[in-house]
Amino acid sequence: KKLGIALVGLGGYSTHQLAPALQETENCYLAGIVTGTPSKVDDWKRKYNIPDKNVYNYENFDEIANNDDIDIIYVVLPNALHAEYVIRAAKAKKDVICEKPMATNVEDAQRMLEACNENGVQLAIGYRLHFEPFNKRVMELGQQQVFGKVESITANNSSDMTSEKPNIWRLDKKLAGGGPLMDLGIYAVQGAVYTMGKPPVAVTANYGEVTKPLVFHDVEQSINWELEFEEGIKAKSNSSYAEDQNELSAEAEDGWWKVSPAYAYEGKKGETSEGKMDYPNIYEQVKQMDGQAESFRKNEKSIVPGEMGLRDMKILMAIYESAEAGGKRVEIHN
Ligand code: NAD
Repeated sequence: KKLGIALVGLGGYSTHQLAPALQETENCYLAGIVTGTPSKVDDWKRKYNIPDKNVYNYENFDEIANNDDIDIIYVVLPNALHAEYVIRAAKAKKDVICEKPMATNVEDAQRMLEACNENGVQLAIGYRLHFEPFNKRVMELGQQQVFGKVESITANNSSDMTSEKPNIWRLDKKLAGGGPLMDLGIYAVQGAVYTMGKPPVAVTANYGEVTKPLVFHDVEQSINWELEFEEGIKAKSNSSYAEDQNELSAEAEDGWWKVSPAYAYEGKKGETSEGKMDYPNIYEQVKQMDGQAESFRKNEKSIVPGEMGLRDMKILMAIYESAEAGGKRVEIHN
């Protein structure tokens, strides 16, 4: 049986990526929706054949506990709302997928993980790149030391949002938890960590210059940071809402690699010191949700579990702590 997924929050990512992907998944399907916007309901019901009994709003959401069509709840809301809905989903005894970043602070991430453990449900984070061939190859190259030990990493993820009107919650620290670091930089942090196959021990960070103060008065416009791994290996990163950058590369003892774009939904390209990286571009969200559904069905921990989301929250918060302190070295304890 395909597992039934209910999407919570029908914004851009649910509408343009997840719902279409769920038409192609093999282990799961779009069974239900949870939305605070009644005007969206008819369209979604018609387009995806969703029965009335599988449509919820934020008030009656907890009744989803009694709905056997829904096996998995996928939280796709603004970052600060992830905690409340993951915890409510766990209490409804449903396995949960939560979008990145897992939360907006470490305490919330811990509470989410505890709620899932206490209720005996699985939690996975929407980290789609763990299911994607270019990034999987990077994990192999780095972790299996295909070109010897990694000596340095560069990981940048930025997207110019100043030319269009960004979704307003992304500029609101209360809802987003921060600026580009929370939204885009998290991919660069992940990239560095899965290149090394272990978390960093310390970080130094600095905010970039604010050239658009009318837009960026609550969250940072840009931030750069350097993760420090054991043996002094460094990963240099930058993330900005006012330029475009998309790269994950590394120098190793006997070679190098570079994937760019590395984090975009499609169009990935890569090269190593031995030549072009030749992998198909795949529908990442299909692979991700199928992979997560399979692990839930077997009651196994996902390869992108809640613990990984918590680990990354600790790193993100250490980056902000360092930037707030003007570039002071901050140790990261796992
Ligand atoms: P969006 O702004 O397009 O959608 C957010 C949805 O939340 C909207 O439908 C909105 O109505 C709803 N909402 C409910 N309560 C709200 C509130 N109090 N304030 C504002 N909106 C509220 O955002 P999105 O791009 O769909 O992002 C949603 C989540 O998905 C974020 O956590 C984001 O980081 C994540 N995301 C992940 C990826 C990925 O590649 N994994 C890509 C895009 C977004």
